[in-house]
Amino acid sequence: MTARNQQGIGMTSQRTRDRLVARLAERGITDHAVLGQMAKIPRHLFIDEALAHRAYEDTALPIGLGQTISQPFVVAAMTALLLARQPAKVLEIGSGCGYQTAILAGLCREVWSIERIPALARRAEQNLRELKIRNVRIKAGDGYEGWPDRAPFDAIIVTAAAPQVPPRLLEQLAPGARMVIPVGGAAQSLWVIDNEPDGLVQTEHDAVRFVPLLPGVSA
Ligand code: SAH
Repeated sequence: MTARNQQGIGMTSQRTRDRLVARLAERGITDHAVLGQMAKIPRHLFIDEALAHRAYEDTALPIGLGQTISQPFVVAAMTALLLARQPAKVLEIGSGCGYQTAILAGLCREVWSIERIPALARRAEQNLRELKIRNVRIKAGDGYEGWPDRAPFDAIIVTAAAPQVPPRLLEQLAPGARMVIPVGGAAQSLWVIDNEPDGLVQTEHDAVRFVPLLPGVSA
């Protein structure tokens, strides 16, 4: 491919990405840092070639192994909720192919991310390496356990739906930290939990639809 062609593809994907970001703003995402990062990260690189032409639609897409890349609007909304407290050190549960991880990496100092399926953890690592993102550590493991050696965290984002809030994750919230997590089964909603001096304060947000947070696999 010639350099001119490559540049052409780069510009096309930037234009479609800018259109997606404009749509997210219309739908109510107001955080400029989040919108800027969504404009920067090439979502098509996280998706199989056969589906890459749909990368800038505001929709979740399959990534294989029964899992999905989350809908851009949901990624943006959850990131904005998480950033409201300006976290430096973030834990993500459910790396998938690493798209949400990449969005967070540009907005926080360090991101720790746990993925249950080892093949996906490796794919996420490779995607982030290709984008030269270096402030992220990914491990294959059980997100229900969190990452106790690295706790506490300023923020925890869970990108799969849990029937209840995992207690081990609550223990790993620093004082003042926030967790954003989809809770439920067939019907799910996004919960925000803040670790306040007087205890945990929980607020319920929009209805969402995530793949389930599954029990860990023993090694
Ligand atoms: N953050 C991803 C979303 C991936 S979908 C994105 O940006 O698109 C949710 C992911 O959670 C799946 O990859 C699934 O394998 C993973 N998952 C499910 N249960 C888990 C668990 N107990 N621990 C860690 N990851 C889990």
